[in-house]
Amino acid sequence: MSMREAESAAVVVSSVQRGDRTAVSVVSAALARIEETELRLHAYLHVRREAALAEAARLDHEAPSARAQKPLAGLPVAVKDNLVLAGAPTTAGSKILEGYHPPYTATAVARLQAAGAIVVGKTNLDEFAMGSSTEHSAYGPTKNPWDVARVPGGSSGGSAAAVAAGTAVVALGSDTGGSVRQPAAFCGVVGLKPTYGRVSRYGLVAFASSLDQVGPLARTVSDVALVFQVLAGRDPHDATSVDSPVVGRLATAPSRLAGMRVGLVAEQADQAGPETRQAVAEARLALMDLGADVVDVALPHGRYGIPAYYLVAPAEASSNLARYDGVRYGLRVAGRDVAELYLNTRGAGFGTEVKRRILLGTFALAEGYYDAYYLKAMQARELLAQDYRQAFQAVDVILSPTVPDPAFRLGEKLADPWSMYQSDIMTVGANLTGLPALSLPWRVAASGLPTAVQLTAPWLGEERLLLVAAALEALRPGGEAWPDPLASPGTSGQGGARP
Ligand code: GLN
Repeated sequence: MSMREAESAAVVVSSVQRGDRTAVSVVSAALARIEETELRLHAYLHVRREAALAEAARLDHEAPSARAQKPLAGLPVAVKDNLVLAGAPTTAGSKILEGYHPPYTATAVARLQAAGAIVVGKTNLDEFAMGSSTEHSAYGPTKNPWDVARVPGGSSGGSAAAVAAGTAVVALGSDTGGSVRQPAAFCGVVGLKPTYGRVSRYGLVAFASSLDQVGPLARTVSDVALVFQVLAGRDPHDATSVDSPVVGRLATAPSRLAGMRVGLVAEQADQAGPETRQAVAEARLALMDLGADVVDVALPHGRYGIPAYYLVAPAEASSNLARYDGVRYGLRVAGRDVAELYLNTRGAGFGTEVKRRILLGTFALAEGYYDAYYLKAMQARELLAQDYRQAFQAVDVILSPTVPDPAFRLGEKLADPWSMYQSDIMTVGANLTGLPALSLPWRVAASGLPTAVQLTAPWLGEERLLLVAAALEALRPGGEAWPDPLASPGTSGQGGARP
């Protein structure tokens, strides 16, 4: 039996809560689907077969009244392998963490589990979340379910592919410069990067601590909302977490957005390729149909986003990754003395892209260069924040592309880091400024690949973001229903399913 992948999280949960279906049957179906698709996709680095079934059985034995209290009862979820989960290995896509078994569980994961969700596996990612394609995973790339010759995006490519392929209803990713939204766009799923601090980072393997944020991916806006509600809130283990839980139930799709002011970043839309431009133009018309006022907004310092991000992120990474020394975690390559042990371990354990980032970051922070690079990047970051503050005086939400173009081919950008970095041109702004942003799949283009649009809201504006996204989702071609990439013969590398 395969999972009915068009089912919403709410339907799965309520059927388990009512006892119409057992959690064991739901989780077994997800595991069967993983088995069916994994050879083609490689979305997972670790599948928790026994543990997931045992947890599901435990849930089935709980009193019905206890199960009914759990807002995610029996929901199969996949977790990016840079979020720790006690009892399972965590690699963060790196050889340097091979064999590492964390003794604790990330708060985001623990919250899902406490709500009754069942983690079916840990998903593939670019090493330490550095990348836009999962090709920098030390364990081989994930393939895009719409076309296995293409990348699923990154760094949360495994999570996005897992959801798109219906092997999990929801997945967790992390977004430092676009790593939830860009793979969501490439795989045709919804991805939310919450406000910096709205979801705890405790137990997330640190990449760039002032930018990192945990976020959900799912097939629909309402599924993302359901999970976000469980994730958000203060965590005493993360000093940067904000005391801002979701109050009440998140609204379902409104049929009107009268009075809502939407700002279109016309400059970014113009930079995108034809398929993305069309998606943004259609979304703009849909917003107008809903009664929203759509006006143009400018982010005059937007072009400094990529250079600022690629200084700040590597600078913080060079410091965060100093802890992988061969003594405390995972891999150890011996040497004659401890200095040689560090060198040997880091030389063997880190991949090319991670080494490039450590070098970039160390250089940018070096005495004599600090003012010229790191300080300049921080100034650009502040100017960008001013741009958004200015824009949000005139509008309630910002509409832009998520990515310039649909998913690229495996290998296409691997030899040219600069072109890979350009993938993030429309997503890094939200990270540099801490703002919440969401990627919404728009339509399957003539090429057979999904396109997407991005919505950005002011600080702590997730509720508004989800509201507008739900309204838009209902009006996109096909509405909430979305084609299954694996349902038609498109996974042999020849292009994907057509609607
Ligand atoms: N692609 C970006 C990078 O390589 C963003 C990664 C992320 O958000 N984790 O740094």
